[in-house]
Amino acid sequence: MTRLFSGIAFMLFSIISYAQADRWQQAVKYDMAIDFDVKKHQFEGSQKLTYTNNSPDTLEKVFYHLYFNAFQPKSVMDMRSRTIRDADPRVASRIAALKPEEMGWHAIKSLKQNGKNVKFEVVGTILEVALNEPILPQTETLFEMEFESQVPVQIRRSGRDNAEGVDYSMSQWYPKLCEYDYQGWHANPYVGREFYGVWGDFDVKINIDKDYTIGGSGYLQNPNEIGHGYAPVSNVKAKGNKLTWHFIAPNVHDFVWAADTEYTHTTMKRKDGMTMHFFYIETENNKDAWETLPEVMDEAFEYINKNAGQYPYEQYSFIQGGDGGMEYPMATLITGNRSLSSLVGVSVHELIHSWYQMILGTNESLYAWMDEGFTSWLSDEVMNHLRGEGLIPGIKVKNPHLDTYDGFVNFTKSGFEEPLSIHADHFLTNAAYGVGAYVKGDIFLSQLKYIIGDDAFAKGMLRYFHTWKFKHPNPNDFIRVMEKESGLELDWYKEYWVNTTHTIDYAVGSATPVEGQPNKTLITLEKLGVMPMPLDVQVVFKNGKTQYYNIPLAIMRGHKFEKKPNSGVQLLEDWHWTHPSYEFTLDSPVENIDSIKIDPERGMVDIDTSNNILQK
Ligand SMILES: [Zn+2]
Repeated sequence: MTRLFSGIAFMLFSIISYAQADRWQQAVKYDMAIDFDVKKHQFEGSQKLTYTNNSPDTLEKVFYHLYFNAFQPKSVMDMRSRTIRDADPRVASRIAALKPEEMGWHAIKSLKQNGKNVKFEVVGTILEVALNEPILPQTETLFEMEFESQVPVQIRRSGRDNAEGVDYSMSQWYPKLCEYDYQGWHANPYVGREFYGVWGDFDVKINIDKDYTIGGSGYLQNPNEIGHGYAPVSNVKAKGNKLTWHFIAPNVHDFVWAADTEYTHTTMKRKDGMTMHFFYIETENNKDAWETLPEVMDEAFEYINKNAGQYPYEQYSFIQGGDGGMEYPMATLITGNRSLSSLVGVSVHELIHSWYQMILGTNESLYAWMDEGFTSWLSDEVMNHLRGEGLIPGIKVKNPHLDTYDGFVNFTKSGFEEPLSIHADHFLTNAAYGVGAYVKGDIFLSQLKYIIGDDAFAKGMLRYFHTWKFKHPNPNDFIRVMEKESGLELDWYKEYWVNTTHTIDYAVGSATPVEGQPNKTLITLEKLGVMPMPLDVQVVFKNGKTQYYNIPLAIMRGHKFEKKPNSGVQLLEDWHWTHPSYEFTLDSPVENIDSIKIDPERGMVDIDTSNNILQK
C-alpha cells in the first residue's frame, strides 16, 4: 500500500504548480554616496538606510557589520588565523603585521534614527545600536550615517593591490545591516567566512578619479557620462578630476565593486536579453582565456537556467579581483591569470552562487553546505556539460562527482571530520569546514539523486528554487520539498548526513543454494556502516544477462521511481535500518551466477567498495 500511495502522490505533486513559501523577510533600501581618495586609499561616505521590520517582533536594537575592522592586528580574524591549526595561507599572520596605513577600518562619525542621534558602540567588526524608538512590527525606520573608511591592503577578499595588481577589490566595504530572521539576529563577527544579508534595493554613487574603470553589482545609471566601455567615451562628463558612477541594484542582499585603471571591459548580450560584463587586466598569457570566456559562460547560463531556475537579473559581471573567487550579487571577483579551464571553473562556481547564495540566500554561517555544497554539485554538472559541448578541454563522464567521493572517503580516515551542523566559523580546522561545506554538501545532493531517482531529483531542484527564492531556506525546507516531490520520507537522510559523521558501508555476504531447492540461490547482504541507505543491486549471470534489484529502506515508506517504467528493475522487500543483514532469493542456481554487486553505478559514498562485489 505504501508504494501505491507514493505513486499517486508523485503524480499529484507533479501537476501542482509551485507554491511560494510563506516566511517573513526584513527589507532594506540603501542610498549611499562615497567620495574616494585614491592617494590615501580612504573614502568618506554617507548612507541612508530605510529599514522595514516585517517580523512580528518589536526591535529595541539593531546591528551592523563593519567588515574592514577585521583587518587590524588582534582582530577576531587575526587571532583566529594565528591560533587555528591549519590557517588559510592568504591570512596566516599577515593581519598582525599590518601598519596603520595598511589596515582597514570604518569610523562612524554620526548615526541618526528618524533624524535624531542614536547611541552606538563599535565592538570589533560589529556596530551595536541602541535605538531611541523601538521599531514596531510592520513599520519602517530611517537610519542616516556618516562614515569614513580606509581600504586595507588586500588580505582576504577585500582590499587594495591584490596579487594580480587590481587596485581596488571592494567587497564588504560599507556598514551593512545584519540580518534579523525567524531565528533572531545574526550579528556574527567577521572571523573568516560566510555571509548573510537582508534583501533590498541599493542605490550607490561612487566618486573616484576619472581614470578608473568600475565593475560591480547593479546597473550603471549614467553610462553616457562615464564611458569606460559602458558607452562611447566622447560623452564623458568629468567633474574636475573625478567621475561619479551611479549604480542601482534591485532586490539584492549585498553590493560589490572593483576598480582599476587598466581594466579591459567587454560585454556580451545573451539571447534571453541579459548582458554579461567582463573586466580584466589583459596580459599576453590571459588574453585568450578571457576572450573565450564569454561564449563558454553563455552556454553555462543556458544550462544553469534550465536546470536550476531562470536567473532573474539583467546583468552579471565577471571581474578580475580579490584572492581566488568570491561570489556577490550580480557579480563575482576572481583572480584572472589562469588557463581557460581554470578561468571557466572559477567563473562557473561563483556564478552558480547567484542561485544558492544570492537568490535562495541560505544562511551560510549555519548551513554553508547548502550554499557551497550545492554550488559545487552543480559546478561539477556544468563543467561536465561544457566538456561534452567541446567548450573546454576534457571528456564528459557519467558521474562527475566521483572524484569528490574519493576525496571524502580519504578524509573520513583523517579523524578530522565534523558534523555539517556546526557554524561555519566554529569548525576546529579549516579542512573540516572545507570538506563539510563543499564536499559533503556536494555528496548530499549526489546521494539524494540516487535515493529518490533522477526525475524526482531534477524536478525537486527546480521546485526548491521556485518555492524558496528570496526566502532564506534552511535544511528542513529543502528536504521537505524533496519529500513532496518524491513522495518519500527523507528526514532520516538529512539527519544522518547533516548531524552525524556516521558513514555508509554495505557488503555482499554470501550466495548459497537454498536448502532443498537447488534451482534457487540465497543472497545475504550485510550492513557494516552505521548510516542506512536503500540499495541498488546488480546480478550478472554467466550467460551474460544482467538483472537489477532495488531494496528500499523501510523508513523511506516507498521507493524511487526508475527513469523508465520498463527498466527491468525488480523491487525487493524493504530493509529495516535496525537489521544488520538482509536476505533475498534468486530463481537461478548458484552456479549460473557470475557476480553480485551493490550500488554498481556508485550513487552513494560507500567507504569500502572492496566488499560491494561477490565474484563467483
Ligand atoms: Zn563557493
